[in-house]
Amino acid sequence: MNYDVTVIGSGPGGYVAAIRFAQLGFKTALIEKYNALGGTCLNVGCIPSKALLDSSEHYHQALHKFEKHGIKVEGLGIDFGRMIERKREVVKQMNKGVEFLMKKNKIDVHYGFGSFVDKNTVKVSKEDGSEETFTSENIVIATGSKPIIIPGVEYDKKRVITSTEALELDEIPKKLVIIGGGVIGLELGSVYARLGTEVSVVEFTDSLIPGMDKSLGKELQRVLKKEGFKFNFNTKVTSAKTEDDVVKITAEDMKKGKSLEIEADYCLVSVGRRPYTDKLGLENAGVKLDDRGRVEVNANLQTNVENIYAIGDVVKGAMLAHKAEEEGMFVAELLAGQKPHINYKLIPGVVYTWPEVAGVGYTEEELKAEGRKYKTGSFSFRASGRAVASMDVDGFVKVIADEATDEILGMHMIGPRVADLISEGVVAMEYRASAEDVSRMSHAHPTFTEAIKEACLAATEDRALHA
Ligand code: FAD
Repeated sequence: MNYDVTVIGSGPGGYVAAIRFAQLGFKTALIEKYNALGGTCLNVGCIPSKALLDSSEHYHQALHKFEKHGIKVEGLGIDFGRMIERKREVVKQMNKGVEFLMKKNKIDVHYGFGSFVDKNTVKVSKEDGSEETFTSENIVIATGSKPIIIPGVEYDKKRVITSTEALELDEIPKKLVIIGGGVIGLELGSVYARLGTEVSVVEFTDSLIPGMDKSLGKELQRVLKKEGFKFNFNTKVTSAKTEDDVVKITAEDMKKGKSLEIEADYCLVSVGRRPYTDKLGLENAGVKLDDRGRVEVNANLQTNVENIYAIGDVVKGAMLAHKAEEEGMFVAELLAGQKPHINYKLIPGVVYTWPEVAGVGYTEEELKAEGRKYKTGSFSFRASGRAVASMDVDGFVKVIADEATDEILGMHMIGPRVADLISEGVVAMEYRASAEDVSRMSHAHPTFTEAIKEACLAATEDRALHA
């Protein structure tokens, strides 16, 4: 065999798996169809979206908060071209970082489209038309996902766009309609709303960020409304089509039973992503898909073919970069004979709007459905000295604990820097801490983290100090 292991796809699942395999002494190859490493996350996902979120938030702060801070700015404006260029620079820097890590770990990177010839043989079809074939003891599928386009929506990549194009526009839209009130739509909607775009969201269900604790979606909706977002819930888009640079969207308000027509200069389709296994030749290796088109895996992330594993967006579970990374490390350690473990209940979900939104563990809705007895404690950022000082008073931290044992079952928060704060919830729950345990730990003052301590105090016999 040419390699001990070959990883197909260089996203956060694939490249992290490759590093861990190499660290553990496996002769490792990584195949990537694009000329840049890092996958969706680094090139058209997590990183570029955060770069634009940061730039637009700086502008928004300058426009709406600087004066209150006593800072005068004259001639404030936006150089959107520069903003996009900076985002590209951030991505490039990270691409180089991953390339460096591949070299450092002596991983053979093959650029080209990978496909199975049989269960131990992979073919790489390169851009110049040439092909390379090699054999591998084990193969890891980490081919990720692609955006879903709904029927009736004519995706032209210019005006009817997905997140990929929304990160590379050459102008700021005047009016942007977003189909889907999930994480990706709201993050990119925030970027443009802060830059002055009129943003309206059309959502099929009755709330934002479905899947997260309902209280978070409600608060996020209230804040985004203040920023000018418009929402149409229980509304199903039936068509979207560009005519003379105008996108015409038709939708059906399912509650009122009437149809709706909206016009915009851009329409962002963000209704979810589908696992990407196109032309991978899975049939040549005998690898099975499940009923939703994902590569079917068992609890060890092993497919129905013994030496083939799959990780990340292409398998079941949350489509998140850090979930893909955990799975990458899991597979490498498993094949090295170790006993790795992933607690899927404790993979945090985060939305990088401002305020940020984050949650981990059980939601109240899940506990209610299970009939489990619980208690909650909440603390509003309005009562946090740190939040008042930085004028970030929207939001709260909510802790859910078992009614009898006080074990923390879930933490849900919306507020400043909660994307970072949520890690405290993960650590606490991994160690099965009680709300009282956390409430008795010293949290530096003044920090946003005090809101977690206070919420834990609130969950422990209503003892919050500053509420
Ligand atoms: P991917 O990152 O999709 O990588 C798969 C790679 O495989 C790609 O590079 C692809 O080119 C390559 N590939 C596919 N088929 C082949 C083939 N046959 N041969 C060779 N190469 C192939 N997640 C978060 O956790 N936090 C965030 O803030 C976040 N923000 C996001 C923002 C946006 C706009 C989007 C779209 C996604 C975001 N995500 C975020 C989700 C995150 O990007 C994915 O969960 C993550 O990238 C999945 O990693 P992966 O390794 O499974 O696949």
